[in-house]
Amino acid sequence: PRVLSRRARGAELSPIAAAGARAARLAAEGRSIIVLTSGEPDFDTPAPIKDAAGAALARGQTKYTPTAGTAALRQAVAQRYRSRHGLEAAAANVIVSNGGKQVIYLALNATLDDGDEVIVPAPYWPTFPDAVRINGGETVIVRTQAGQGFKLTPQALREAITARTKWLILNSPANPSGAVYGADELAALAAVLREAPHVLVLWDEMYEAIWFDQPPPHLLAVAPDLAGRTLAVNGVSKTYAMTGWRIGWGVGPQPLIHALEAVQSQVSSGASSLGQAAALAALQGAAEGFLETARLAYARRARRVADGLAGIPGLRVHAPQGSFFAWIGVEGLIGARRPDGRPVEHDGDVADWLLEAEGVAVVRGAAYGLSPYLRLSFAASDADIDAAIERIGRAATALA
Ligand code: PLP
Repeated sequence: PRVLSRRARGAELSPIAAAGARAARLAAEGRSIIVLTSGEPDFDTPAPIKDAAGAALARGQTKYTPTAGTAALRQAVAQRYRSRHGLEAAAANVIVSNGGKQVIYLALNATLDDGDEVIVPAPYWPTFPDAVRINGGETVIVRTQAGQGFKLTPQALREAITARTKWLILNSPANPSGAVYGADELAALAAVLREAPHVLVLWDEMYEAIWFDQPPPHLLAVAPDLAGRTLAVNGVSKTYAMTGWRIGWGVGPQPLIHALEAVQSQVSSGASSLGQAAALAALQGAAEGFLETARLAYARRARRVADGLAGIPGLRVHAPQGSFFAWIGVEGLIGARRPDGRPVEHDGDVADWLLEAEGVAVVRGAAYGLSPYLRLSFAASDADIDAAIERIGRAATALA
């Protein structure tokens, strides 16, 4: 008898976690491995935020919270949207969940009927298509072009929309490309969306605080009229180096938030009480200085990676505008041969070779739906980044 449901058969373990696990195995065998696969800040959670969680623990804030989150945190999130982006958000427009990932899952679960379509530009964060599949939807993948900065164009969006389109997912700053949509680009996409009022927008702004030249424009600041059908997804994971606390949120129209709350009430109930206390302290400014320190560190590393890889034969770095990922074209290495004669056929071979030859772990572009590329996370120390650049240079040069 078949044990797994059709939906579960569509679920896969994250390819990013798999790449990390392979690197960890080699490191355990005693090899020197530089792991640049991870999607999490290398900083510790700032001490004042930890202290706030400690105080909440001592106060006995250790019980169930309301399903949609504590009133204080929902208010603080709404307040942030009002003050940062001038949006008319109230606490009732906010749901707090176990990370932004769960918000995305709840949103798809609460809205997709079998066969409904979700437009996802590639390269994408793999959770987008996988969460769509688990929830019975069909992902419509739209491949973006290097020449367009790996951003969805209005024309490509128009062509992808059908009567069955339920959602468009936009992620800016983007994982894995580091692309940031400009205000004019968002305005042009919004114009297409106005022609298709049945399409909801999932605006994933998880890397909002990690930008290099100018702050990323917010979709709803550019197109406030889309607020009635947009779910903004964010959280503390990347912004405050709090990945393990598992606190994220969605901000959207009340009926949608209510539906997410209803699903969450049967999935997990309210998120962790201590995590919410810590997130509240973060939003109230307990560690505001950390944001700029972290942002500048990522900006410096982004430059270091772009400059360091620029001279390596066969590689093409696309300088990120935000997030902590470098997106590297490896077309110039496809067709080369490893010293033992084995051909390099795709970006997976390139990633394998970097690990095998020089102990540098990165993730193949195929995991993000676009090849031939590599994703390198620079949420790592300057020393590791410099060593990795040197090793990647040696490995690439060894290919003939
Ligand atoms: N969105 C994007 C694009 C991400 O890369 C991530 C984390 O990797 C998330 C959302 C979710 O983060 P979390 O569930 O930790 O809030």
